[in-house]
Amino acid sequence: MASETVEVPVLIVGGGPAGLTASLLLSRHGVESVLIDKRMTGSPLPRARGVHSRAMEILRVCGVEPDLRAVELPITPGAEWRTDLTGTPLREDVPSAGKSVVSPCEGLSVSQDVFESVLREHASSYSAGQLRTGALLESFQTDDGGVQATVTEQTSGRTTQVRARWMIAADGARSGIRRQLDIAMNGPDDLGRQTMIAFRAELAGLTGAQPRGIYFLTATGAALIWTHADDRWVISQPGPVTGEDPATAVRRVLGLPDLALDVLATNPWTAAAQSAAQYVHGPVFLAGDAAHRFPPAGATGVSAAMHDVHNLAWKIAAAIHGHGGDKLLDSYAAEREPVGRRNADETGTAWSRLFNGDGAPFSGRSLAQLDMGYQYRSSIIAADGSPDADPPGADYQQTATPGCRAPHLWLADGTSTIDLFDHQFVLLTAEPGTTWRDAAAHCPAVPVNSQVLTEPGWPDLYGVAPDGAVLVRPDGHVAWRSRTRSNNPVADLQTALTTSTGG
Ligand SMILES: Cc1cc2nc3c(=O)[nH]c(=O)nc-3n(C[C@H](O)[C@H](O)[C@H](O)COP(=O)(O)OP(=O)(O)OC[C@H]3O[C@@H](n4cnc5c(N)ncnc54)[C@H](O)[C@@H]3O)c2cc1C
Repeated sequence: MASETVEVPVLIVGGGPAGLTASLLLSRHGVESVLIDKRMTGSPLPRARGVHSRAMEILRVCGVEPDLRAVELPITPGAEWRTDLTGTPLREDVPSAGKSVVSPCEGLSVSQDVFESVLREHASSYSAGQLRTGALLESFQTDDGGVQATVTEQTSGRTTQVRARWMIAADGARSGIRRQLDIAMNGPDDLGRQTMIAFRAELAGLTGAQPRGIYFLTATGAALIWTHADDRWVISQPGPVTGEDPATAVRRVLGLPDLALDVLATNPWTAAAQSAAQYVHGPVFLAGDAAHRFPPAGATGVSAAMHDVHNLAWKIAAAIHGHGGDKLLDSYAAEREPVGRRNADETGTAWSRLFNGDGAPFSGRSLAQLDMGYQYRSSIIAADGSPDADPPGADYQQTATPGCRAPHLWLADGTSTIDLFDHQFVLLTAEPGTTWRDAAAHCPAVPVNSQVLTEPGWPDLYGVAPDGAVLVRPDGHVAWRSRTRSNNPVADLQTALTTSTGG
């Protein structure tokens, strides 16, 4: 059978949250990509049911948030412990009420299959990003020019040769690409086996019309989660699949022997807390579950997958558009690998506490800190001697310390500072004069969007005097800041831009 040949800058393997977000972001940066996924449709299992604020900020900037809010589940935030579903609450863990003051976006409750279908629709709306479903990565080789991959269309058996400068391995926890590259995973690979059963049943009489985020059922050690508005739920119970009929297992766990239900799927899974020993291998970048596996304590898997490719997409774009230096792409591993390791350690400990300890999920960094407080330290970040912004046990405080997520502030026009960070570097200053803006205009090698912020709270929040300046990367992380006016702003900004683009 004739084989088609395709040349493209980026081949993305995997159409889960990591791959779809990579496609979307690369397209927005004007970079062509081909995404392949061996499945014809998305995962039939609900899997994740939570996306945190930082990932929602990425999707807000990409214009995806309204479509996701339209399909969001109206849960009552928090967790509840009961003996079984018929029991009264033994304990509740309720987050503080009120809107977030550190982000323009609340977290989102939606099951992963619905989340992916919305993402897929947006990713496929860009002509730069080609999505090929039912397309299996059969084999690949790397060489000095990039990657040569053989892709097989599952239905026709037709093969395509894809020649790509870079390949993003977003092929999930069992990544075949990672295995072929012989990259080890560090950390425990078995924190306990679980069996997930998805089912449909009318439970609102016991949970109310807006169920809690999660119910821990202490008699069996199982968890119950509402996944879809049409009465779909999952239980996850400790232990491997047994000979017990799944419907009987659901009734036993819930304490409802006569419950009418339809079992939709059964899926065994093993909790692991691991991070890859290498995130980059030549032209191949590992992202999402291919790079790290977290137990679902805190529900950080999908969000972290998106943070990975958010870090990577602008760097690939800069390399293609000619303003990325040698060290820029190397910084992906330097920045994301420590975050993957940190998240694996924290969620692994939290998982063990949840199932073996006192039930308090996070005794280390708070969930908000895990989600938004990671600080990049690499050769492309101009450290300014500020204290560590992400120490063990930290709770999230917004800070513009270089390497951190640039803080959110509502602007006079009703938008957020977060909305400014899209596909260019942004130079922020409160100085109404022209010094910093002139400096940006004198650095034409890298496109810089300079913004004067007149909001009175901005200098304090960003840790600068009104005549200081902060340079923010396209992924919304602070690259450099000058706390006050500079005697030579052009030279300072030029140096900062050279450093932050890996020159
Ligand atoms: C039971 C369970 C519950 C979970 N709960 C949560 C939660 O509450 N919150 C949370 O954040 N996370 C949760 N997770 C984790 C979450 O599902 C993952 O972190 C997330 O899916 C990772 O996204 P990804 O894109 O990296 O990988 P995946 O979603 O696994 O996507 C990988 C894709 O690669 C494709 N692929 C693989 N090999 C090939 C190949 N050779 N050729 C072509 N395509 C290929 C696959 O078909 C797949 O679509 C849970 C996971 C499980 C199993």
